Formats: sequence, C-alpha cells, structure tokens
Amino acid sequence: MKTYQVNKNGYYGEFGGAYIPEILHQCVEDLKKAYLEVLESDSFHKEYIRLLRDYVGRPSPLYLTGRLSKKYGCKIYLKREDLNHTGAHKINNTIGQILLARRMGKTRIIAETGAGQHGVATATVCALMGMKCIVYMGKTDVERQQPNVKKMQMLGATVIPVTSGNMTLKDATNEAIRDWCCHPSDTFYIIGSTVGPHPYPDMVARLQSVISEEIKKQLMEKEGRDYPDYLVACVGGGSNAAGTIYHYMDDERVKIVLAEAGGKGIYSGMSAATIQLGKKGILHGAYTLVMQDEDGQIEEPYSISAGLDYPGIGPMHANLSTTQRATILAINDDEALAAAFELTKMEGIIPALESAHALGALNKLHFKSEDIIVLTLSGRGDKDMETYLNND
Ligand SMILES: *Cc1c(COP(=O)(O)O)cnc(C)c1O
Repeated sequence: MKTYQVNKNGYYGEFGGAYIPEILHQCVEDLKKAYLEVLESDSFHKEYIRLLRDYVGRPSPLYLTGRLSKKYGCKIYLKREDLNHTGAHKINNTIGQILLARRMGKTRIIAETGAGQHGVATATVCALMGMKCIVYMGKTDVERQQPNVKKMQMLGATVIPVTSGNMTLKDATNEAIRDWCCHPSDTFYIIGSTVGPHPYPDMVARLQSVISEEIKKQLMEKEGRDYPDYLVACVGGGSNAAGTIYHYMDDERVKIVLAEAGGKGIYSGMSAATIQLGKKGILHGAYTLVMQDEDGQIEEPYSISAGLDYPGIGPMHANLSTTQRATILAINDDEALAAAFELTKMEGIIPALESAHALGALNKLHFKSEDIIVLTLSGRGDKDMETYLNND
C-alpha cells in the first residue's frame, strides 16, 4: 500500500535521512535503536499517558464552533491545543523526549528555541524531572521574547544567547548541534519540531500523534464517523500539523491543508513560505526543502509570527507537498492578523499568531454545507498580545 509515513531508512519519499557529522554518528544510531523500542513499550506508554492527562490536561477538547461555522457554511471544529499546560502543543513532544532521555541514561538536556515556546516547554519538563537544561536562543530572539526568556530562567534553565549569523532560530539550532557534538555521551538534544536528522522527524510526529488519536475518538462520539473532510494546520517546522494528520495521512478521504507563513507576500523578499519558495537541500541533518540562494546559502525567513520563521520544513511535509497529498497555502501577515481578530470576536478565543495562519486558510477554501473541518489551534495568544495591540 502507498504510504506517506517514514520508511525504515528514515525517508519520506526522497526527503529525510540523517546527514550528520561523524562525531554524532553513534549518538544518532543509539537514538535510532532506542526510540521505537521505548515509545512502544508498555511502561513508557503508561507514564507518558499519565503525564499527558494529569500534567498537561489532555485530552484537549474538540470544540464545534458556532458563529465561525455559520460564517463559513460548514462544521468547523477546533482542536484545542491552546488549552494545554504551557499554552501550546509543544509540551506533548518534550514530555515524551525527556522520558526517553531518562531511559537512555542521559543527564544533560539541550534545546534550541526561536520564539521561546519550545524552550519553555523543555525547561518545564526539565524542572519536572529535576534535570539540567541548556537552551540556545539567537540574541535577536532573546531581546524580542523577554517574557519567555524570564520563564525559562525561573524554571531553572540556562539560556545561552547565540551571536552567530542573523542571531535567530537557525543559528540557535547550529549552536545546539555544536554543543551536542562536544557532549555526545551525557547529553540529550530535545528538538522542538519534525525536523533534524532521522529519527527526530518520526519521533516528534509519533509524540504529537496523540492529537489525531484523540480527534478520531472525539469525531466518532460527536459525528458518528471518525474522520473529517478537511484537516487544517499551520506549519513552521511541522510538528502540530504532523500530530494532526498522523493517523489520517494514508486515508485519502481526508483532505490535508497546510498553512505556511507568507509574511509580507511570498515574492516580497520577506516571507517564510518555505514549501513554496524552498529548493531541495540539506538543513540541520535532513534532506528537505530549504530557503536558499543560488550559492546554497540559507535565506533568512520573515514572518510576523516568530514560531513560523524557520528556513526549512520537515521532510514529511516536503513529501506531502511534492506528491500533492497536501494543499499548501501561504497566509500573509495581514491575513493571519484578520483571522486572529475574527476568532477572538466570534468565538471568544485569542489564538497564537501561528495558529491564526491556519484560521486564515478558511477564507481560501470552498466548503460544502455537510463538510466537517478540523482545524488545530496550536497555541494561545497571550504571548502575542503586544503584536495584536499594535495592529488593532
Ligand atoms: C512552535 C509553534 C508552531 C510551529 O511549530 P510546528 O512544529 O510547525 O508546529 C505553531 N504554533 C505554535 C503555537 C507554536 O508554539
């Protein structure tokens, strides 16, 4: 059967793999040997499920919107990842990876972060488990994301400002990989999205797949069928989207819509529409679509949303796009802002700016009245209040 899942060599179609320096070879091999065995074990599963339930607050509700559904003339459900502890889907992944790190005998946790959401989710689980935590963050991001920097520090993490390159997420990731190269034996690198060398994209997708597992059950209860007509999610690196579609990828009855950040317009030179602008290349250990110039130098992405401005994309999504399994839409800053205000005024929910990109896709799709749409609200808007107030 045709599948969009990863193959045993770590590829999604032609994308993926593990392009890593020699010194990390053993680390990545060890992880590859451990992750499936641990994730599929009963004892891991019990502990993971217990923490997701009692600590994160899962299952997250599947909420049938009233006024929004009416406006678009169909049934729009929101998968409420914004209600999770720490305010987004990222914690589903960090809980899983820290349990794995502990089982592998690692004592030191490192992470990269852009907007600081993954940094906070990592610092949170490190506090929970009493583990040492170092977060790499571009200096530019440290300055513009102070509340998250302060949260990480309060949680006991060391935040290291990175001054190379443009001093943003890509540079923080480079620095985290450098650290990992220096401490391969005691350190576990918790990557925040479905990016990086195999097995990270598959591991993160599996840990986020609790989202689609719950959607199946919840739709069955509410609609008497366990699949929607459309799944809609935003993509930065691809983790909330991967979790949303995981159990539906090979089910062609379900249309998949991915919203990436168009910035000021995809041909404006200020965009993060990686899937549409990217060319094939290697970034942070994976062969995927990358925003790059003719010399293969990474082009700095731009988006109003700090969580979506990554110059690469997960290999799973690169494959979903080139095989046309998924529809990819670029949603510009102004469209995302309008969608955020619309949800706030119509449903009383202030979404994260990232999630607002998924909401911005609704305008561009044509629904039938009997269509069932599930849109993942990846996070809440508290962290974006300043941007919202400046653009009201
Ligand atoms: C980090 C983040 C994203 C983007 O990351 P993905 O890996 O693509 O999901 C989207 N929404 C929120 C709220 C985030 O914090």
